[in-house]
Amino acid sequence: MEAAAAFSEAERTRILAKAALFAPPPARLEDGRQDLVGLSREQLAEALTASGEKPFRAKQLWHWIYHQGATDFARMSSIARPLQRVLAERFVIGRPEVATVQTGADGTRKWLFRFRDRQEAETVYIPDRQEDRGAVCISSQVGCTLSCRFCHTGTQPLVRNLGPAEIVGQFVAARDSYGEWPSPKGETPRLLSTIVLMGMGEPLYNYENVAQAMRIVTDGEGIGLSRRRITLSTSGVVPMMDRCGAELGVNLAVSLHAVRDELRDHLVPLNRKYPLAELIAACRRYPGASNARRITFEYVMLDGVNDSPADARELVRLIAGIPAKVNLIPFNPWPGSAFVTSRPQAIRRFADIVMEAGYASPVRSPRGRDILAACGQLRTESRRTRAMEGSPPG
Ligand code: SAH
Ligand code: SF4
Repeated sequence: MEAAAAFSEAERTRILAKAALFAPPPARLEDGRQDLVGLSREQLAEALTASGEKPFRAKQLWHWIYHQGATDFARMSSIARPLQRVLAERFVIGRPEVATVQTGADGTRKWLFRFRDRQEAETVYIPDRQEDRGAVCISSQVGCTLSCRFCHTGTQPLVRNLGPAEIVGQFVAARDSYGEWPSPKGETPRLLSTIVLMGMGEPLYNYENVAQAMRIVTDGEGIGLSRRRITLSTSGVVPMMDRCGAELGVNLAVSLHAVRDELRDHLVPLNRKYPLAELIAACRRYPGASNARRITFEYVMLDGVNDSPADARELVRLIAGIPAKVNLIPFNPWPGSAFVTSRPQAIRRFADIVMEAGYASPVRSPRGRDILAACGQLRTESRRTRAMEGSPPG
């Protein structure tokens, strides 16, 4: 047991060291001003004290930045004008640039965000069909190191990790786009009230930045999202799943997609490193998993590949005893993809077997396919440049 724990710790250290090799560039503007978005509360206080301000200003600024959505110091009525001007000379409240924005026929909206070094990532808002609210699907990396066969992002090599400012930035910029900040009357926004870390990249291969961003969005004096309204999806980075559960306590979604190692090795190559038995064991010990907080298993439906009744029965056997639901995702095609979406009757049959075993088995209806915004369709033109390859770690 101890040996296994030590092994995991060594693995975690290795994963974090590798993530640092793909770190984002420092968030300072060319004119020397510092971006306040993405700093932890402590870092914000440090930035202010370093420029001669009192630490209590951090609390005030936090409220303006994350509760009110202010991007202009001149709007901060609780701060005296001369100080507003000083702050504006030293700091900015940054937003990623909107390179393009498209809204699909079903109301899904996709942004291509461009960051300070001109790298790009996509973000999607998916309105709920029944309720007057929806989820923001956020990217954690530009590209991905993993190359799941059915995923468009997987065809784009990892360019770099996104920093906390860029991860939080996607959410706040999405809110800006809908005017979703408290009104002067104090009405709170509810439209963009859920985050799914299901965009480009593997969030657990960029753990530190994702964790800092999630601490910011859940902070009760700012955006104040409940952890229960955040779902992190992983393709199965087992050593980081424990840390994610212990430290962040967000909902977990696991991209399962196959129930036998041989097939999963092929579809989700990370399985060769962390095979099914280890993945399922990590799910069993995920803290806080209960009937009220189930683990979501995502299962892409690929015609003739993983959609047989025998697969469904094996799935049920594999996850027995885990408080879970199984999200069946009809494969979303993209230019050059090699798979075909399962036939509706195959999906129904699969869903019925899973449901009869006592698990909810919703079929995720494709959203925003017309604008290539559905699961697994995201990809940008960003590439890792020579200069980045030569840059020192950290
Ligand atoms: N990297 C993380 C999160 C991003 S992908 C992960 O893999 O979990 C979000 C979900 O979409 C994953 O379950 C992923 O496997 C699935 N997906 C990828 N490509 C898809 C496609 N073409 N059609 C349907 N789902 C896809
Ligand atoms: Fe990366 Fe997830 Fe796509 Fe796999 S499915 S290539 S882990 S983004």
